[in-house]
Amino acid sequence: MRNLLFVISGPSGVGKGTISKLIVERNENTFLSVSYTTRLPRKGEIDGKDYFFVNREKFDSVVKENGFLEYSEHFGNCYGTPKKEVLDKLGNSDVILEIDVNGGLSVKKNHKDAVLIMILPPSIEVLRQRLEGRNSETEEQRKTRLSRIDYELSKKDEYDYLVVNDDLETAVKTVEDIINKEKNK
Ligand code: ADP
Ligand code: 5GP
Repeated sequence: MRNLLFVISGPSGVGKGTISKLIVERNENTFLSVSYTTRLPRKGEIDGKDYFFVNREKFDSVVKENGFLEYSEHFGNCYGTPKKEVLDKLGNSDVILEIDVNGGLSVKKNHKDAVLIMILPPSIEVLRQRLEGRNSETEEQRKTRLSRIDYELSKKDEYDYLVVNDDLETAVKTVEDIINKEKNK
């Protein structure tokens, strides 16, 4: 079976992080890439585990060294996927990138066999509730994230798979089935 790059995208609050973490917990040979970001850590987030939290100067220096597989700026912050780590890990495991749609489409340009999976909410109302329930952003930040929903969803036809995250277990199982199917192709 070949090792593959799986991109998981979708609007903020849809459950991408929750699904990706469960998949790597439950599937041994699957690695979740840790991105660099210039945003501040949320309560409970750990540097090097959830993200590498860096300042803008450090981020720009990695850009200059061509150290990102892709990077993108959104919600007023920069986010990037470390190239070397991902390519090294692909040598012995599947790699999941939990990144935005711009990042996903940019990865696909250079890695044609990357599999793009978009997580969709059962409804916009549910998405709003999840974002509020997570309680990790200010009202202002939540508004910015909600204003980007349409943009993220507008790219869904360019994704290989769409998975609705209504019941969490069903969504995780659906993504696992996609991974297995693609690996066995
Ligand atoms: P994202 O990474 O897409 O921004 P998160 O994984 O942080 O989203 O999920 C946002 C919130 O929704 C979290 O509080 C999470 O526990 C919750 N959540 C995720 N999936 C479900 C689900 N299927 N049903 C109910 N709540 C969910
Ligand atoms: P958050 O601030 O909620 O952790 O993430 C905000 C958005 O940035 C999410 O859509 C997430 O998928 C995306 N993101 C996280 N890491 C990266 C990355 O390395 N590259 C890109 N392009 N997007 C990322």
